[in-house]
Formats: sequence, structure tokens, C-alpha cells
Amino acid sequence: MQTPSSERILEKLSILADAAKYDVSCSSSGSKRKNHNKGLGNSTGGGICHTYTEDGRCVSLLKILLTNHCIYDCAYCVSRKSNDIKRAAFTVEEVVELTLNFYKRNYIEGLFLSSGIFKNADTTMERLIAIARKLRTEHRFNGYIHLKSIPGASNALMQEAGLYADRLSVNLELPSETSLQLLAPGKTYEQIKKPMLLVSQTIQAQANEKRLLQRAAKPLFAPAGQSTQMVIGATPETDKDIMYQANALYQNYRMKRVYYSGYIPINPTDTRLPGVGTPAPLIREHRLYQSDWLMRFYGFQVTELLSDSFPQLDSDIDPKLSWALRNLHQFPVDINTADYEAILRIPGIGVQSAQKIISARRFGQLDVYQLKKLGVAFNRARYFLVCRGMGPASLGDLQDRQIKHFILAGYRSKFSNAVSSQLSLF
Ligand code: SF4
Repeated sequence: MQTPSSERILEKLSILADAAKYDVSCSSSGSKRKNHNKGLGNSTGGGICHTYTEDGRCVSLLKILLTNHCIYDCAYCVSRKSNDIKRAAFTVEEVVELTLNFYKRNYIEGLFLSSGIFKNADTTMERLIAIARKLRTEHRFNGYIHLKSIPGASNALMQEAGLYADRLSVNLELPSETSLQLLAPGKTYEQIKKPMLLVSQTIQAQANEKRLLQRAAKPLFAPAGQSTQMVIGATPETDKDIMYQANALYQNYRMKRVYYSGYIPINPTDTRLPGVGTPAPLIREHRLYQSDWLMRFYGFQVTELLSDSFPQLDSDIDPKLSWALRNLHQFPVDINTADYEAILRIPGIGVQSAQKIISARRFGQLDVYQLKKLGVAFNRARYFLVCRGMGPASLGDLQDRQIKHFILAGYRSKFSNAVSSQLSLF
């Protein structure tokens, strides 16, 4: 039977978990915190629940706000002070208790804790740290902890937060300072970037020390690094503006991840925002993530993907294919002689296939059959490569628009074949 106090906790949980769902930066990758001293949990261990919401957001952590009371009035945020919604606040003990209970039941792999800003930045940050400290020191909790940093919190608090959290993040909020001033007038880029810089410098200093001493500096500061997120589609920045901003964040603040959160219309009366019924399309979010991936793992420069003359990503084809079609002079690439970097740029060839190609060709020249066996998506790749038995005429006189047409037609017929074979089952 539920007691009045457990009912109240459940009510708070439903309010504060719902308010936290707009924050998409909840990835837990990159931490290797091990269980020790017979403590509880292990951020890399098995039995971890990974679940995704309908729109693809990861909810593998207990993802909650400490409170949705907030002194700020950011136009795009459901918790803004002018919004007439149910408010709630957890106590430190309640969050600790919930985390431990959920963890023991194997519902979660850790905690993602954010908060509205009550009283001021330091008071809020102190409360978040108190939860992480209690989990780590009193309950020897070794599961994953991701803490949101509160812009404007003191350096000393940020330093302490990093001792308990695997990952720290502070949201950039919007892709440009002009938009931030318009929609979140209480915040500034300076306030947001100061803790980012501190985290990045501390992580760098720790890495230097580790190199010098040949062992990890103890205790580790934010071992899973820092991340950030931007709301996209609420303001007029182009994909180029967004990706150049992301690139600067990766370069200047050693970000592990930049997240792109498609704007969800939640404030229909604010004329500064796009209207209800025009949420940022999920495909835009997806293309931004693909471009981000190309920059981090495929060696692409942001300037190759987007420029003044090409400021918006294609929505009908992925950014790698789009780049290849704009740069046909770089193709075809000879699979049997080209270097890894050039092979990786061929549409339809991913990191694993490229690595397999490099290994396999040591034993002989590769042909179409072997490439397919190595995982190459040949229907896409065929226009951009040569291999044994397939000469440099593969591109022939085809223009970029024709190649795009053939590839898209291939997708469509693959899709309709899949649908008809599904239907034939019934
Ligand atoms: S400070 Fe954070 S919680 Fe408060 S209104 Fe702005 S985005 Fe929302």
C-alpha cells in the first residue's frame, strides 16, 4: 500500500522527470568507473537498462530535475518562471533514495540530474553536489552520475562537482549570443562558457599530470568529460551557424559531445518563437548529428560540410553523400590503392568497412563481390569507386543530380520491396 509520503514522491517524480525530458544530453558513454570497496554499482557493468523514448531520446538514466522552480524566464523552456505549471522540488535525501532504489532494481545505470535555478546559481549547485557527494561517499555508489552545471556557479563548486560526477555539462542553450539575449535575457555566453573553460582546463591539467606520473591523478575529475546542448529551430541560425558553433565548442572546450535538441513549441503566446505546429523537424536534428559524426570520426572539416554558399544541410540525403556529390572531381577512388582517409570518404563505406578493406587488400585485389562481403553499401558506393573488374568508367559522364536520382530511386525501390515482402506475409 502506498503511504501519503510515497504518493507525494511519485507525484514529484512525475513532474520533475517530465520537466527533464527536454534535456537530450544524457548519453553515458565514456566512463569506466569500477566498483571498489564493496560499493554499489558499476558504470560499465552489465544489467544496465537502455531505453529510448518514441522520438529517439535516450532515457537510460534516472533523468530528473531537482526542482522545476526557476528564477529565470527562458522563452523556450517549460520551467520558465512565467509558465503556469505544477511546481515541485525534491530534497537531497529523496533523490539519493530514488537513485539507489532504481539502481538496485536495475531500472537505470545512473543518474542524470539537472535543476531549475532557485535563489541563485551557487545555492542550486550546492544542492546538486550534496546529492552526488552523498551517493559517492555515504553510499559508495559507483554508478554513472551526470550533473548539470549551473551557469554562474563559483569555480570552487565546479571543482567539487567534478570530483563526484562522471560527466559535467552546461548547456550553451542557443547557437548564437544574439538569440540567447533575445530568448534568455537573464543569461550570457560569458556565464555559460566560464564553467566550460574551467572543466576543460581541469581535465587537461589532469591528463598532463597523468602523463607525467604515468598513473591517474586521484581522485579523477569528471572522467567522462563534459558535454553541452543547443536548442535548434527556435531561432533563425542556419545549419552552418550551428555546426560552426559546435566545431568551436569541440576545439576550444574539449567537449565529448554536443547535442542538438530540436525545438518543441511549448510557449504558443510568445511571438519571439516559431508557432505551434512548426517544431524543428526531426530530420534536421538527425542531419546535424550525422555532420557532427563526420567531423569527429571521418576526418571532415566543418568548412567542407557547410559554407556560405551551402548553409543548409540537404534533408533528402545524408551529409556525406551530399559532400561527395558536390566534389565529384575527387572520385572515383581506387579501393585497391587509395589511403584509408580517402576510402572513408566514399558514400556507403563506414569506419568498419574501411578498416576491413585496408586489411583485406593485403591479400589481393578486391572486387565487387568482396566489397559487398565487407559491408560496403554498394548501391551507393558504386558511383564513387573503382575496384578489380570495375574500371574508372563507373562515374562516366553522370552528373551529380543524376547520381542522386539513381541513389534515391534505389532507396525507394528497396523500401517498396521491403513493404511488399512484408505484405506478402499476410
Ligand atoms: S534557467 Fe534553465 S530551467 Fe530556468 S528557465 Fe532557463 S532553461 Fe529553464
